[in-house]
Amino acid sequence: MERRSFIIAFGGLCGLLWLFAAHGPSFAGEFPKPGKDDRCPVCGMFVYKYPKWAAGFVLQSGARFFHCCPKCLLHNLHNVPKYQPGQTRENVRGIWVTEYYTTKQTDAHEVLFVVGTTLVGPMGLDLIPVRGETAAQTLKEDYQGEFILTLDEVTAEMLDKVRKGKLKRN
Ligand SMILES: [Zn+2]
Repeated sequence: MERRSFIIAFGGLCGLLWLFAAHGPSFAGEFPKPGKDDRCPVCGMFVYKYPKWAAGFVLQSGARFFHCCPKCLLHNLHNVPKYQPGQTRENVRGIWVTEYYTTKQTDAHEVLFVVGTTLVGPMGLDLIPVRGETAAQTLKEDYQGEFILTLDEVTAEMLDKVRKGKLKRN
Protein backbone atom coordinates (compact mmCIF):
# COMPACT_ATOMS: atom_id res chain seq x y z
CA MET A 1 0.00 0.00 0.00
CA GLU A 2 1.28 3.47 -0.82
CA ARG A 3 2.16 5.60 2.13
CA ARG A 4 -0.43 8.20 1.19
CA SER A 5 -3.30 5.77 0.81
CA PHE A 6 -2.21 4.13 4.06
CA ILE A 7 -2.52 7.47 5.85
CA ILE A 8 -5.94 8.05 4.30
CA ALA A 9 -7.08 4.55 5.28
CA PHE A 10 -5.69 4.97 8.79
CA GLY A 11 -7.38 8.35 9.13
CA GLY A 12 -10.66 6.85 7.95
CA LEU A 13 -10.40 4.03 10.45
CA CYS A 14 -9.72 6.45 13.30
CA GLY A 15 -12.74 8.49 12.22
CA LEU A 16 -14.91 5.38 12.22
CA LEU A 17 -13.66 4.36 15.65
CA TRP A 18 -14.43 7.82 16.94
CA LEU A 19 -17.91 7.70 15.43
CA PHE A 20 -18.50 4.29 16.97
CA ALA A 21 -17.30 5.37 20.39
CA ALA A 22 -19.24 8.62 20.35
CA HIS A 23 -22.48 7.64 18.65
CA GLY A 24 -22.56 3.96 17.81
CA PRO A 25 -24.04 1.05 19.70
CA SER A 26 -22.48 1.05 23.14
CA PHE A 27 -22.88 -2.58 24.10
CA ALA A 28 -21.85 -4.68 21.07
CA GLY A 29 -23.88 -7.56 22.50
CA GLU A 30 -22.26 -7.36 25.95
CA PHE A 31 -24.97 -6.06 28.23
CA PRO A 32 -24.39 -5.49 31.94
CA LYS A 33 -26.06 -8.12 34.13
CA PRO A 34 -27.81 -7.09 37.33
CA GLY A 35 -26.37 -8.67 40.46
CA LYS A 36 -28.25 -9.71 43.61
CA ASP A 37 -27.55 -6.37 45.27
CA ASP A 38 -28.57 -4.08 42.40
CA ARG A 39 -31.65 -2.06 43.25
CA CYS A 40 -33.73 0.10 40.95
CA PRO A 41 -32.68 3.75 41.65
CA VAL A 42 -36.28 4.90 41.16
CA CYS A 43 -38.38 2.46 43.21
CA GLY A 44 -35.73 0.60 45.25
CA MET A 45 -36.76 -2.92 44.18
CA PHE A 46 -34.17 -5.67 43.56
CA VAL A 47 -33.75 -5.84 39.79
CA TYR A 48 -32.65 -9.49 39.44
CA LYS A 49 -36.15 -10.56 40.50
CA TYR A 50 -37.61 -9.18 37.26
CA PRO A 51 -35.48 -10.62 34.41
CA LYS A 52 -38.29 -10.19 31.87
CA TRP A 53 -38.65 -6.48 32.63
CA ALA A 54 -35.17 -5.31 33.65
CA ALA A 55 -33.59 -2.29 31.97
CA GLY A 56 -30.63 -0.03 32.60
CA PHE A 57 -27.98 2.37 31.44
CA VAL A 58 -24.25 3.00 31.66
CA LEU A 59 -22.68 6.40 32.30
CA GLN A 60 -19.57 7.69 30.57
CA SER A 61 -17.73 7.06 33.86
CA GLY A 62 -18.56 3.35 33.48
CA ALA A 63 -21.06 3.41 36.36
CA ARG A 64 -23.94 1.03 35.67
CA PHE A 65 -27.51 1.42 36.83
CA PHE A 66 -30.20 -1.25 36.75
CA HIS A 67 -33.94 -0.68 36.70
CA CYS A 68 -36.80 -3.04 37.48
CA CYS A 69 -38.78 -2.07 34.37
CA PRO A 70 -38.84 0.28 31.34
CA LYS A 71 -41.02 2.78 33.17
CA CYS A 72 -38.48 3.31 35.98
CA LEU A 73 -35.62 3.46 33.44
CA LEU A 74 -37.37 6.09 31.31
CA HIS A 75 -38.36 8.10 34.37
CA ASN A 76 -34.72 8.02 35.52
CA LEU A 77 -33.51 9.15 32.08
CA HIS A 78 -35.71 12.22 32.33
CA ASN A 79 -34.41 12.93 35.85
CA VAL A 80 -30.72 11.96 35.82
CA PRO A 81 -29.52 14.72 38.22
CA LYS A 82 -32.11 13.59 40.76
CA TYR A 83 -31.15 9.90 40.82
CA GLN A 84 -27.45 10.21 39.86
CA PRO A 85 -26.38 13.47 41.55
CA GLY A 86 -23.75 15.40 39.59
CA GLN A 87 -24.65 13.66 36.32
CA THR A 88 -26.80 14.69 33.36
CA ARG A 89 -28.60 12.88 30.55
CA GLU A 90 -25.68 13.79 28.26
CA ASN A 91 -23.43 11.59 30.40
CA VAL A 92 -25.53 8.49 29.65
CA ARG A 93 -23.56 6.37 27.21
CA GLY A 94 -25.70 3.31 26.59
CA ILE A 95 -29.28 2.34 27.38
CA TRP A 96 -30.76 -1.16 27.27
CA VAL A 97 -34.13 -2.79 27.86
CA THR A 98 -35.47 -6.35 27.90
CA GLU A 99 -37.33 -6.96 24.63
CA TYR A 100 -40.83 -8.23 25.39
CA TYR A 101 -41.12 -11.22 23.02
CA THR A 102 -37.55 -12.54 23.18
CA THR A 103 -36.83 -11.44 26.80
CA LYS A 104 -33.33 -10.56 25.54
CA GLN A 105 -31.38 -7.48 26.59
CA THR A 106 -31.54 -5.07 23.65
CA ASP A 107 -30.23 -1.56 22.90
CA ALA A 108 -33.06 0.83 23.75
CA HIS A 109 -32.57 2.58 20.40
CA GLU A 110 -33.38 -0.68 18.62
CA VAL A 111 -36.87 -1.13 20.05
CA LEU A 112 -40.22 0.62 19.87
CA PHE A 113 -42.20 1.34 23.02
CA VAL A 114 -45.87 0.40 22.97
CA VAL A 115 -47.72 2.77 25.28
CA GLY A 116 -51.09 2.36 27.00
CA THR A 117 -51.43 -1.44 26.85
CA THR A 118 -53.10 -3.54 29.53
CA LEU A 119 -49.80 -5.36 30.25
CA VAL A 120 -48.62 -5.06 33.82
CA GLY A 121 -44.96 -5.11 34.91
CA PRO A 122 -43.38 -5.05 38.37
CA MET A 123 -44.52 -1.44 38.82
CA GLY A 124 -47.91 -1.73 37.16
CA LEU A 125 -48.75 -0.36 33.72
CA ASP A 126 -45.66 0.12 31.62
CA LEU A 127 -44.23 1.03 28.21
CA ILE A 128 -43.51 -2.25 26.44
CA PRO A 129 -40.24 -2.53 24.44
CA VAL A 130 -40.65 -4.49 21.21
CA ARG A 131 -38.22 -4.96 18.34
CA GLY A 132 -39.65 -4.14 14.91
CA GLU A 133 -42.69 -2.27 13.61
CA THR A 134 -44.69 -5.44 12.86
CA ALA A 135 -44.22 -6.91 16.33
CA ALA A 136 -45.03 -3.53 17.91
CA GLN A 137 -48.28 -3.31 15.92
CA THR A 138 -49.20 -6.87 16.91
CA LEU A 139 -48.61 -6.17 20.59
CA LYS A 140 -50.54 -2.91 20.36
CA GLU A 141 -53.54 -4.74 18.89
CA ASP A 142 -53.32 -7.75 21.24
CA TYR A 143 -53.14 -5.64 24.41
CA GLN A 144 -55.19 -2.58 23.45
CA GLY A 145 -52.20 -0.23 23.24
CA GLU A 146 -52.66 3.47 22.52
CA PHE A 147 -49.57 4.31 20.48
CA ILE A 148 -46.03 3.34 19.52
CA LEU A 149 -42.97 5.51 20.17
CA THR A 150 -39.20 5.46 19.78
CA LEU A 151 -36.98 6.07 22.82
CA ASP A 152 -36.49 9.73 21.90
CA GLU A 153 -40.22 10.32 21.44
CA VAL A 154 -41.08 9.40 25.03
CA THR A 155 -41.70 12.69 26.85
CA ALA A 156 -41.58 13.33 30.60
CA GLU A 157 -45.24 14.36 30.48
CA MET A 158 -46.35 11.11 28.86
CA LEU A 159 -44.27 9.11 31.28
CA ASP A 160 -45.90 10.84 34.18
CA LYS A 161 -49.31 9.82 32.83
CA VAL A 162 -48.19 6.20 32.41
CA ARG A 163 -46.75 6.18 35.93
CA LYS A 164 -50.07 7.40 37.27
CA GLY A 165 -51.96 4.83 35.18
CA LYS A 166 -53.78 7.46 33.18
CA LEU A 167 -53.07 6.03 29.75
CA LYS A 168 -55.03 2.83 30.21
CA ARG A 169 -58.24 2.33 28.29
CA ASN A 170 -61.57 1.72 30.08
ZN1 LIG B 1 -38.18 0.40 39.56
